[in-house]
Amino acid sequence: MDEMKNTFEKQSGGISVQTSHIFPVIKKWLYSEKEIFVRELVSNASDAVTKLKRLSSLGQYDADGEEFRITVKLDREEKTLTVSDNGIGMNADEVKKYICNIALSGALEFIEKYEQGDASNGIIGHFGLGFYSAFMVASTVEIVTASIDGSPAVHWECSDDGDYTIEGASYDRGHGTDVILHLSSEGEEYLNGRALRNVLDKYCAFMPVDIYYEDSDDKKDENAETKPINDTAPLWQKAPSTCTEEEYADFYTKLFNDYRKPLFQIHINAEYPLNFKGILYFPPIRSEYDNLEGQVKLYYNQVFVADNIKEVIPDFLLMLKGALDCPDLPLNVSRSYLQNSGYVSKISAHIVKKVADKINGLYNTEREKFNEYWKDIRIFVEYGCLRDKKFYDRVKDSLLLRLTSGELVSVNEYLESAKEKHEGKIYYATDKIAQAQYISMFESQGIKVALVEGPLDFQFISMLESENSVKFLRIDSDVADALKGEDSDAFSDDALAEIFKNVSGVENLKVEYSALKDEGVPAILNIPEEMRRMNDMMRYYMQNSEEAPMTLGEATLILNTKNSLIRTVSSVEDSDKKTNGAKQIWSLALLAQRTLTAEELKTFLAQCYTTLEDSLKK
Ligand code: ADP
Repeated sequence: MDEMKNTFEKQSGGISVQTSHIFPVIKKWLYSEKEIFVRELVSNASDAVTKLKRLSSLGQYDADGEEFRITVKLDREEKTLTVSDNGIGMNADEVKKYICNIALSGALEFIEKYEQGDASNGIIGHFGLGFYSAFMVASTVEIVTASIDGSPAVHWECSDDGDYTIEGASYDRGHGTDVILHLSSEGEEYLNGRALRNVLDKYCAFMPVDIYYEDSDDKKDENAETKPINDTAPLWQKAPSTCTEEEYADFYTKLFNDYRKPLFQIHINAEYPLNFKGILYFPPIRSEYDNLEGQVKLYYNQVFVADNIKEVIPDFLLMLKGALDCPDLPLNVSRSYLQNSGYVSKISAHIVKKVADKINGLYNTEREKFNEYWKDIRIFVEYGCLRDKKFYDRVKDSLLLRLTSGELVSVNEYLESAKEKHEGKIYYATDKIAQAQYISMFESQGIKVALVEGPLDFQFISMLESENSVKFLRIDSDVADALKGEDSDAFSDDALAEIFKNVSGVENLKVEYSALKDEGVPAILNIPEEMRRMNDMMRYYMQNSEEAPMTLGEATLILNTKNSLIRTVSSVEDSDKKTNGAKQIWSLALLAQRTLTAEELKTFLAQCYTTLEDSLKK
């Protein structure tokens, strides 16, 4: 070993002309993201090992019996953090070339941007400045390295003013590299083993070379078995056909430390021309209060890069959870590049296609399961359809409607069953309880009623209407022909109609006589669909208003000629009694439509008390 020492003269220098620019930039650079130095140093180590493995597989290096590994060592007393690998190492010329010269085009570009004030947040750290990120946390950095070419080992040391020395060294592990950081006050937080482990787990959990972690504080137990802290073969690398459901669930747990079972997953294994892999999970959603924001971790050759890159995942799929590995993603460029990159939009389009394929696959082959998932995925599918016409076109045959009966049917199935009685019309209700009377009238005639429940649903049905020749009608907007029956004694009473107009207080109220199949219902109030929708939308926007605004301008009151109460009120002589009866029937028709306003309710109750008293007096 000793002959290897000082095999060349100690030299010193300053790191290229640009250094004076670079160092202050590095120090200030993304203070909040300084933890990325861990990723940079460990991935350099991983690259060094990977290069050696490749040489070995090409037969250009004999790796017989070598166990490739990376060690991250924390020495709390010395305040050092060392990243060691047994990869290809560097000789003196390589250290000079790769380490001392950082006038890489990426770095220069970065500095230009920075000086223009454009180094905004985002994916920074991929400007070929990787190694120098060490200076965000270290006052001095040493490299001890020995190349596989058998050249003398090299010791390089550089302080944060950019001055370095390079000299011969001794290295007792054959080949490889140690990078030793003397942590500065900015890096002190990494002297806490837990903090360092967290950062390692975040960035290095799936790197392709075994990583061992050593903490000077854990040295007490000599026999402690050490295990690599990473998984070198993440599930996304495996062929989808060889993965089991259990493996997918375990991998989800590993990724998110979440023990719940995801609904289902999409394993993407795209090769030429798009080269990326990943697993995307539809997360379990227990309640509407669950956090809907997903998390897709983006990797670059198994190195974690960032969470939720909005440019890659279409916004309507941001609730997905999972991992994507995009080795071709040019991450050393700015966010604005990502936004305009054709490659990124192709990845994004591919994800959309895969998600749509999965949804169609479940619909076609696992319908029962699909029905179960629907309540959780509905909101995303609907939103996706609204956001992305291509997505809608792909999944349009797998869209479901939930019926008031609880059953789930696809839009196509609904229309198929409607062919006879109400072709092209989908009846819907917005409130199962308030509209119960209408719902039972429809259901008893075998007409299916869909539930439309939120603002998103309204936009969604408008979209379905514009894309198909289908019309959505709320059950109280139209008396379906199927609800109408025959009535040999049908009658019409214009005087009574006038009374109803008066008691309703609605200026243009239309009153019609019709025979309904359901004899028990005296009167129903129809509000045209368009008016109805405007009312509903208004209600969503004025959520706190106690008085539900409701225009009844275009409403039609249908009096059921088959109903005995209507016949009675028509035939009664006493005009006071007639008017009172009409008042109450009107209130009840209104009540079946919607909640009464406070004023209406007061009037209604007063009427009821009078009627009750009258009936008891008799
Ligand atoms: P990048 O990794 O983006 O090329 P870096 O500044 O991180 O930029 O590293 C510059 C170069 O230094 C690497 O490309 C590699 O040739 C060399 N290098 C860095 N770390 C190691 C290491 N642990 N083993 C061998 N070579 C290394």
